[in-house]
This record gives sequence, C-alpha cells and structure tokens, in this order.
Amino acid sequence: MQFQVDAGDSRPTFFELVATDRLVPSLRAALVYSLRTLAERRPGVTRILDHEAEAFALLMLLVEAHSFATSDGSLAEGLYGLQRRGGRGGRGGRAAVARGGLLRSGDDDGGNGARRSRRIGGKQRLLSVLVLVGLPYAREKLDALYPPGRSSRDEGARDGDDDDARGGRRARGGSSPTPAAPSSSSSASAVSGASVRAGAAAAFVSAYPWIHAGWEAVVFWCWLRYLLKDGTTHDPSLATLRLAVVRASPSEVTARRARVESARASRVNRLSSSPSWMTRVVGPTALRAGHFALDHAQGGLMAAVVGFKLLEWWYGSAEDAVFRDRSHPPPPPPPRTAPHPRARCVVPRDPALCPLCRRRCSQPAVVRTSGWVFCHPCVVDEVRRFGRCPVTLAAAAEGDVVRLFSE
Ligand SMILES: [Zn+2]
Repeated sequence: MQFQVDAGDSRPTFFELVATDRLVPSLRAALVYSLRTLAERRPGVTRILDHEAEAFALLMLLVEAHSFATSDGSLAEGLYGLQRRGGRGGRGGRAAVARGGLLRSGDDDGGNGARRSRRIGGKQRLLSVLVLVGLPYAREKLDALYPPGRSSRDEGARDGDDDDARGGRRARGGSSPTPAAPSSSSSASAVSGASVRAGAAAAFVSAYPWIHAGWEAVVFWCWLRYLLKDGTTHDPSLATLRLAVVRASPSEVTARRARVESARASRVNRLSSSPSWMTRVVGPTALRAGHFALDHAQGGLMAAVVGFKLLEWWYGSAEDAVFRDRSHPPPPPPPRTAPHPRARCVVPRDPALCPLCRRRCSQPAVVRTSGWVFCHPCVVDEVRRFGRCPVTLAAAAEGDVVRLFSE
C-alpha cells in the first residue's frame, strides 16, 4: 500500500491524491461562503449565487486552462507538486506499467528524453480541462434532478397554484404551462410531448441510481488497484485519457519554469517589434501584467480558501456559543399580516413556496414590515420598484428585506 513516500518513487501517495481531490470542492465552499456574506450588503451578488454551478464552472475553466498552459497538471495537482504524464499506450508507457511504477527520479539521466516524449500533448490537455470542469458540473446537474419526489412535488404544487392564480402569473424560467385553449391537434401533440417527457423522466429515475452506483464502484476499484500498486492511476477519467498523476522532480519543475519564461519572453518580444506604436507601448506592459495576475491568481485563491475557512470557524464557534444555551425555547415568530385584497401576487397554499415566483424559496428573505417570506432576488426587485411588500402592500424599503439562514 502506498501511504508514504518511497525514496525515488514518483507515484503520489494516497494522502497526496485525496488532498488533491478535495481541494477544488473546498475552494468552491469558500467562494460561495464569501459571496453569501457579500450578498448581505450587495443584493446583486445573489444573481451569481442563483447560477452558482455555472459561475464556478466558468471560473474553473479559466483557472484550469491557465494551469495546463503553464504546467502539465491541474490547479490542485500543481499545488501539491504533481503533474500528469502519459501513463499507458504512449512510447515506453507500457514498459513503465509493466514495471509497476511510472517513472523514477533515478531515470532522470537517461530518461530526460523519455520524460519529454511522455509529456502530455495539446489534445490531452484540452480533454483534461474539459473532464475536470465538465464532469463535476454534469454530475451536479444530474444529482439536482434526483430524487424525483422533490421536483415532482414542486411541479405539482406550482401547477395547483397556477390553476387558481387570478393574474395568470407564470413561473419564471420554468417550463411554460399548457396554453388555456389549444386547438385539438396542438393539444394532442402537447399530450404526446408530455408523455414522452414523463417516460424519459421515469427512465432517468430508474436508471440513475444504477449509473451512480456503477460509477462509484469503478472509482473504488481504481483506488483499490492503485493502492495495491496494480494500477497506474486512481481516477477512472484519467485512465480513460491514458494519463497518470506523478510527482514532479525538482529538475522538471525548473525546466518547466524556464520553458514558460522563454515562451513569455518571445511573446513580449514579438509585441515589442510590432509595426504599430500603440501595440509596442501598451502590449508588453499589458502582457506582463496579465502574466503577473495569472501567476498570483492561484496563490490568491488558496489564501481565500484559508481565510474564509478561518472566518467560518471563527463565526461558527461564536454561533455555537449563542445557541448552546437552550434553557428557554425560541419565541414563536410574529403573526404575518393578512394579504391585501389588491395584492400583487397570489399567495400559494404551500408556505414553503415563494408567492412571487411560486417555486421553493431559494435564499429566503423576510420583509420586515409584513412578515412574509420570498426568494431574496424576487422580493428585492419588487421592493425596489414599488416600495411595498407584494402581498400586504405594506410600505417597505430595501433595508426591510432581511435574509434568513436555516443552517
Ligand atoms: Zn421567488
């Protein structure tokens, strides 16, 4: 079992690989925490939180693309001194697998050529970035569709409320409801479309647990083989790309830095000798500033993770101290003011749904002057535009909208 570093072995240990795998989720948790804190002061930030998965995937796409452009590994691998190498199939790759290891630093003298020949190519870099960013994103989206009970209940509640909605207010961004008076042919096609969708949803619901379990079994099998020194990688996606993660030797790190520096210098020189004086003056400075920002972005992100984890721990422990004393039960919430007859929206029967968008409240916020709860982005818009609670029409300013945190 590989739990500690063997002298001269380039195979990463179990702990290095686990730390590498955990880094990006920790980074996301820290960024989301900081954005939530910022959203308290700047409600516009909640728009980013509404599309949290997409925003984080875009950020990671940029970060990982830069990481693969300047090194042979992802952000997390680079921080732990690891890099990717052609693990199978490539020139000399099978021999390395047969030896049970990939590369040993002792091979440096005669192996520099072999190391260079097994550096990952442009296609493998591109595929690595796409897999690193796309796979977690796709998994998150599929997980959000499951369990089915939650979404179907929401749909049912929304449809039921829509039926008795006086204003015919439609769910924002949701699937559009069937038109009120369709012709017979369009109603038939709508019914067949709905049955196809229902069939696809049922197939997904029955197949997804098996796909999920199958994937987890493959991951477990790869880890087990890696720990028993039978496999070259712990990750099935790396195995599919015929790559493996290895520890970078000091000479490789130096060579990589020299390579990046020379590539950057040649780019700066090209701009300096441009015929346009504007490019000659602005180009090199802008390029150097860009390189500086990219080089320090990784360090900045890591500092953000550590800083916000520290804040979370600090405020978490303070919160614990507040809630430890449970000798008195919490007081009941004040009664909500009754809806106004000319309310701007119809109150749904399910109190968990937002009266404005008629979906389950995301980032719930209460209007202090009325006691009604909505999604934060929905109600902030309303209060800004009309200066009133949409249900009770009680006067409310933006400062009267207060976010609620349940966890
Ligand atoms: Zn809402």
